[in-house]
Amino acid sequence: MTVEAHKETLGFQTEIKQILDLMIHSLYSNKEIFLRELISNASDAADKLRFEALSDDALYEGDSELKIWIEVDKAARTVSIRDNGIGMSREEVISHIGTIAKSGTREFFKNLTGDSAKDSQLIGQFGVGFYSAFIVADKVTLVTRRAGLSAEHGVRWESVGDGQYSIETLERKTHGTEVTLHLREEESEFLEEYRLKGIVKKYSDHISLPIVMPTTETDPEKNETTVSEEVLNSAQALWARAKHEITEEEYNEFYKHVAHDFEDPLAHIHNKVEGKLEYSSLLYIPARAPFDLWDRQQRRGVKLYVRRVFIMDDSEQLLPPYLRFIRGVIDSNDLPLNVSREILQHNKQIEAIRGGTVKKVLSTLENMAANEPEKYAIFWKEFGRVIKEGVLEDHGNREKIAKIMRFSTTHDDNPTPAISLDDYISRMKEGQEKIYYITAESFASAQHSPHMEIFRKKGIEVLLLAEQIDEWLVMHLTEYQGKSLQSVTKGQLDLGSLEDEAEKQEVEKAQDALKPLLDRLQAALVDKVKSVRITYRLTSSPACLVADDSGMDASLERLLKAAGQAIPSTKPIMEINPQHPLITALQEETDEARFKDWALILCDQALLSEGAQLDDPAAFVSRLNNMLIAMRNR
Ligand code: ADP
Ligand code: MG
Repeated sequence: MTVEAHKETLGFQTEIKQILDLMIHSLYSNKEIFLRELISNASDAADKLRFEALSDDALYEGDSELKIWIEVDKAARTVSIRDNGIGMSREEVISHIGTIAKSGTREFFKNLTGDSAKDSQLIGQFGVGFYSAFIVADKVTLVTRRAGLSAEHGVRWESVGDGQYSIETLERKTHGTEVTLHLREEESEFLEEYRLKGIVKKYSDHISLPIVMPTTETDPEKNETTVSEEVLNSAQALWARAKHEITEEEYNEFYKHVAHDFEDPLAHIHNKVEGKLEYSSLLYIPARAPFDLWDRQQRRGVKLYVRRVFIMDDSEQLLPPYLRFIRGVIDSNDLPLNVSREILQHNKQIEAIRGGTVKKVLSTLENMAANEPEKYAIFWKEFGRVIKEGVLEDHGNREKIAKIMRFSTTHDDNPTPAISLDDYISRMKEGQEKIYYITAESFASAQHSPHMEIFRKKGIEVLLLAEQIDEWLVMHLTEYQGKSLQSVTKGQLDLGSLEDEAEKQEVEKAQDALKPLLDRLQAALVDKVKSVRITYRLTSSPACLVADDSGMDASLERLLKAAGQAIPSTKPIMEINPQHPLITALQEETDEARFKDWALILCDQALLSEGAQLDDPAAFVSRLNNMLIAMRNR
């Protein structure tokens, strides 16, 4: 077969041009990381070859000793990073190096801030390490051939980092990739071997295959030169080493390698399990949520290894979706090397590893919450909403998950959630049996809801839940530590023994005395509410709406409707405050039409103060204006 060796010049995606500019400007202060990125790619390429070769040994082409070479040519002012990994076909070069295939391109650019420190972290999450070559090089040449293709399928790619690159086909005997950097004038330091060795030691020591530098020695007497290879790294899987031998820097560098992040992680969890089931894991909690945390297509999960052999990336079977932000590796001693994604789905060992790993992650978080609250606050801000999904997904660990959740409450009215359910319970009033909460569309409407009045008056703490997930959370988390969770907007107010006998009797008396008013209101609002009753939960508002004990919380109903779900509307119950002057005045209203207007205004007001939208706001405004005019004319 002959291949057209045609050379073509292609344009980069516009985004790549922007990324290049950003790279050069944002990362310049940390320019040596180009080497880490290129070594990381070479290491990934070796992993891929090793994995594909499990089912097709011929791919090694007789060369199964996988390595990474770093070569310097001082005269030509070049540094080359070469590997004998999987290599790339022409199409792969175009799609991997010429375009950004990843889904989140647009989000990436939306998220850019112009603040170089922040933006460089985004670059890491985005996985565009290859382009870091242009920080130090004004021209980059990549020559590659995919393992398994014949020699004439070699590819040469070249770019000076402007808007375009050239690509041509050529003969290449060996598989794998060589990236050659033509260093910029001012970057001569990277021609010094000691400098390169230092960078490898600093960032890439954990790479599990040898990174070598050829050294030539000339014997002037015999006029002979000998070439030998010096191995620059320890070439050992980091997770296989003993914990006490590993420095914080080494842990952090390995994180950057596996997570494609430029920022240090918040914490690592290094664990070795021995016995019937043997595996080791090195997991990380990132310091920042990836921009695609909520994207269902996003890559998630950890790398799976079997006895040090890389098997697959993003192995989502190893962790449940609510821990999808965890990065790292799990290395099993028991799984077969030819394990596939299908096998993983119904594998007992995987289930056991997953169960053990989840417990380990949750207990690490629990310790962090207890011992490093500031760190935990960062964690909760970034990942709290995802952790809450765990209450819905992972029934077995519900109590543990609930323990590490943090909420805003009326204790300090701080919108940053910092209070645990244990804190809440420790402050419960004498005689208080339930954990009270309110769900609302926003923090302010939760805070200021009329339903809160009695709780504020009595000093009973209420959880202020204003995230969408909270509606589902409280459906699944019905109790914690034997205490049931109770919505303050649902059902007849039942404060148990916190109730004041005198108050209660007063309500009962009022209920009788106001019976005619209640009946009139009910008749006027027959289309709007199920019933009308007296309450003592209000102190400053005239009325509020509550859901039936068996009904759905009004805020959940609104949420479902907004999401386009067809759900039957349930009429709320209206509760009125017998002490309120408006209610007193209403009793004296004899004009039936005006009475009806008052009733409708009360009802709409109650909705508004919960943060709900009115079906017919214009009607509300015109009714209110009529009332104001009538009052003025009095
Ligand atoms: P990432 O490594 O996060 O995917 P990079 O920009 O570093 O992003 O690399 C882009 C892609 O180019 C890689 O995913 C890989 O497919 C390909 N690539 C880069 N370097 C090599 C290499 N040495 N061998 C094979 N493929 C490579
Ligand atoms: Mg990379």
